[in-house]
Amino acid sequence: MTLFFLCYTPLLAQELYTNPLTQPIVVGDLSTSFPTNYAAAKMRFKSYSDLLKKKKWQYSTSSQPVHTTSEHLTIDSLFIEGQNHNKLFIITSGIHGPEGFAGSTLQDIYFQSLLTSEKIPETDILLIHSLNPYGYKYFQRTNPSNIDLNRNHANTQEFFSTNQAFETMSAIYTPKYSATTGLVAKVGFYCAAILKYITHGKRIILNSLSGQYQNEKSIFYGGHQLSEESQIAQKIIETYLVNKTSVVHIDLHTGFGTKNKLHFYGSDEFTSPDQLKLVQNIFPDISIDTGKDKDFYPTSGDFVDWTWKNHPQLKVIPMVFEFGTLDSQTLSGGLASLWTSVLENQLRFYGAASPHDKEIVKKRYEMLFNPQDINWQKAVIEQGFSALRKAEKQFRDL
Ligand SMILES: [Zn+2]
Repeated sequence: MTLFFLCYTPLLAQELYTNPLTQPIVVGDLSTSFPTNYAAAKMRFKSYSDLLKKKKWQYSTSSQPVHTTSEHLTIDSLFIEGQNHNKLFIITSGIHGPEGFAGSTLQDIYFQSLLTSEKIPETDILLIHSLNPYGYKYFQRTNPSNIDLNRNHANTQEFFSTNQAFETMSAIYTPKYSATTGLVAKVGFYCAAILKYITHGKRIILNSLSGQYQNEKSIFYGGHQLSEESQIAQKIIETYLVNKTSVVHIDLHTGFGTKNKLHFYGSDEFTSPDQLKLVQNIFPDISIDTGKDKDFYPTSGDFVDWTWKNHPQLKVIPMVFEFGTLDSQTLSGGLASLWTSVLENQLRFYGAASPHDKEIVKKRYEMLFNPQDINWQKAVIEQGFSALRKAEKQFRDL
């Protein structure tokens, strides 16, 4: 319990985030917001039911164990019944483990803001915490089987597809030796990647990141079947979609895009005027990127797309919030991000050339997905929270 109180002070958070729609958010001691580890984040999320008891609102929770041989790994959810049962506002986090720190934080701030109101929320609300608890606990993007869960909500055709762009880059992405971070290794990786860039163009690199189902020991591997985590996540969503007519599903991510900036990443397959209008209604005056845009890449098997594709009878607005860290849209930032992902994957399968290399890989991985930088954390909180509240308000009025 001591750890919990060190990591989180509900009253302080409440004071900091009142009247979010009318006043700028004041970010105080960020250590009260960003959890220090998975256990602290989970304990905080589970404490919400106690806080809700005082409200006398209708709510339900679930805590579903994942990989039962591992210790205390659960996907947790909280559902709050609103005034309008036809609409469901979903916020999910931690599908990529290390991105759960920012995701948990935003879910917490959003939840605390609900508590400050005397009124029952206008729409039903569903928060799912830590979609990849193993990755959150052990600070890796994938689950224990190296499956990228945001490429795993796929259909049979995708599970057995071949990503040609990945095939082209595969040798660079999957070195079969221990991770080395020295200058020679860096020059080798950068030269090989730039050569591919010159030969095949930027699009080949972007498309190679979209998910692959060919190599289980490489990056962005989506698996060959629905993982345990994905099954649980889909089941939770299905449970609360009964009797709904419209749904917003926001999934929280970090690591791609301009540093300290929130990017809105919409579905690549939203092409009809009706679908686009719906998205613009919820996210007005916002530049929304898709996989077809020049600096972004399409993804297969991503979670928010599963929600809308599998429920054609509903109006579903899928959206990914992506908080940039290393300016991955520039050539140098993109290569740095890519090399870090490759090194971390190498470290897991082949170890590191030295303890120093191991330390450097881990440090870079942290900078890519959960930088210990107060300005970045402040940007996540301010921009993320403001966007969540705006989207919620637009959805309410839809
Ligand atoms: Zn992510």
